Amino acid sequence: MRFIADVMLGKLARWLRILGYDVVYDPNAEDETLVALAVAEGRILLTKDRHLVERWRKKLRQNGYLLLTSDDWREQLKETISHFELDIQNHRMTRCPDCNGLLEEVPKESVRYKVPFFVFTVHDHFARCNQCGKVYWAGSHYERMNAALDELLSELQRGHLGNA
Ligand SMILES: [Zn+2]
Repeated sequence: MRFIADVMLGKLARWLRILGYDVVYDPNAEDETLVALAVAEGRILLTKDRHLVERWRKKLRQNGYLLLTSDDWREQLKETISHFELDIQNHRMTRCPDCNGLLEEVPKESVRYKVPFFVFTVHDHFARCNQCGKVYWAGSHYERMNAALDELLSELQRGHLGNA
């Protein structure tokens, strides 16, 4: 399942990428470009723009779309996860939140001069984005992201119980 997010959904795009989903996001893209890309690449459009959906509904139906209502990225993420029944456990941290590239594990020695000395000494596993080259490791930022996702997951589960 691949997505394209409209200009208002930058934070949602980042978090979906953190979950491992392929999300195109360009803050400068025009509506027409978004729709054309969705059609050309078979992507589901995530949008907050009701007019966009009304204007292009026919084209958007091909791959599907989700019209989000909340301004809060956490609510947007929860809505997207529930709507498409996304897997939020198994592909975390496999994609670069900055550019949508894929993360590839690289030998420790290859990042010696690319990460802070302290990080290099305490970590053994590193990954690099195959597009922008950014280096990632399982540090405190990673733990915070995982904790935020776990919290979200439990909120979702409570929500489902509440509706049952
Ligand atoms: Zn990247």
